[in-house]
Amino acid sequence: MKKVNVILLFAVFLVAGNVGYSGTVASPYEVGTWQGFRTAAITYTFDDDLPDQLVYAVPYMDSNGFAGTLFTVTSSSWYMPPNWTGLQNAASNGFEIASHTVDHSDLSGMSSSAQITEYSQSQATINSYIPGNQCLTIAYPNCDEGTQSLISQYYIAGRVCSGQIMPATPSNFYQLSCFILGSAGINTLSGIEAEDNAAASSGGWCVFLIHAMDSENGYSPISHTLFQQSIQYLAANRSTFWVNTFLNVVKYIKERNDVSISESSNTGDSITLAVTDTLSNTIYNYPITIRRPLPAGWGSANVSQNAQAVPSSIVKVNSTAYVMFDVVPDGGAVVLSRGIYGDFTGNGVVDLNDLSGFLKFWLVNDCNGIVGLDVDEDCVVNFDEFAVLAENWRQVP
Ligand SMILES: [Zn+2]
Repeated sequence: MKKVNVILLFAVFLVAGNVGYSGTVASPYEVGTWQGFRTAAITYTFDDDLPDQLVYAVPYMDSNGFAGTLFTVTSSSWYMPPNWTGLQNAASNGFEIASHTVDHSDLSGMSSSAQITEYSQSQATINSYIPGNQCLTIAYPNCDEGTQSLISQYYIAGRVCSGQIMPATPSNFYQLSCFILGSAGINTLSGIEAEDNAAASSGGWCVFLIHAMDSENGYSPISHTLFQQSIQYLAANRSTFWVNTFLNVVKYIKERNDVSISESSNTGDSITLAVTDTLSNTIYNYPITIRRPLPAGWGSANVSQNAQAVPSSIVKVNSTAYVMFDVVPDGGAVVLSRGIYGDFTGNGVVDLNDLSGFLKFWLVNDCNGIVGLDVDEDCVVNFDEFAVLAENWRQVP
């Protein structure tokens, strides 16, 4: 019995070590499980360099503000040699170009030296063709995983194909699951949406895998129309689903579990925050979403990191107004400052553009719909607010 306990303890330690919850987040700050405090993460991955991926998938996702991951076989003798110009264009639109090895051989049973060649050469080739790219994730050919101790020398995550929604923190980043779409897998819109919704109801991460489209010569073809309909569903529900690349989701998970947040000063009008982690800054440089209740008396807030404005918004959750913002751990000091009331465009001065925005809410009586506008919190925008706006007119804070 004692031996069993020791083994269990060791297993728990290993899992905790892998997951790495090492940070301390000071109250009242919260870190979003997914970017923007969305409910679930969704990733589209594309394997084997099939040309229709660049024709139908990349432009369509891009036009909806999404990016995915192209797992590329790098050998020029592969039956679909990589289209480097097309991949460069995809990368410039935020797509991840990642490894599907050099020649698509099964990795299990392969010698260590042959595996190292597959891992290192595919990574080096991709990074040489795609400027600024970080080839840090891999999809195992035929979903056949290699030796983890070798993979981890080159990559921070790897994809298998076991058809599961992953929890918000996967237990093993080298066995991240996916669902195969198309004729050999899920091939209906309702089936794809069911997995999106399963991720939302569990707060998890769903990864899809696409190979061929329409009548292309490749595995498990999916009609490009069905693919695009599945993207439309996510676009229509973008406040629920965070759609991003395999690599960015991995970075986000590791950063949010490792981040420490503390206030280094608070003058009442300005709060300076230290947002740090223990991860490598050359790899883990993705912004994570943080929020805190809007300090008492603040009508709005401006947020900067390293003296540069960062995306921020005022959101109301269960009748509390929060300032929510995206910053990079170890990316420099974060400063929240009381915004001047009336500067709704955020250009630092209250002017005519702000007035026209303000008038849209004139006499609107909706506690939730006028967050940041309702200075005296009586749930209506009226002369009380107009008086403050007029007082700030043309003033630069
Ligand atoms: Zn493949």
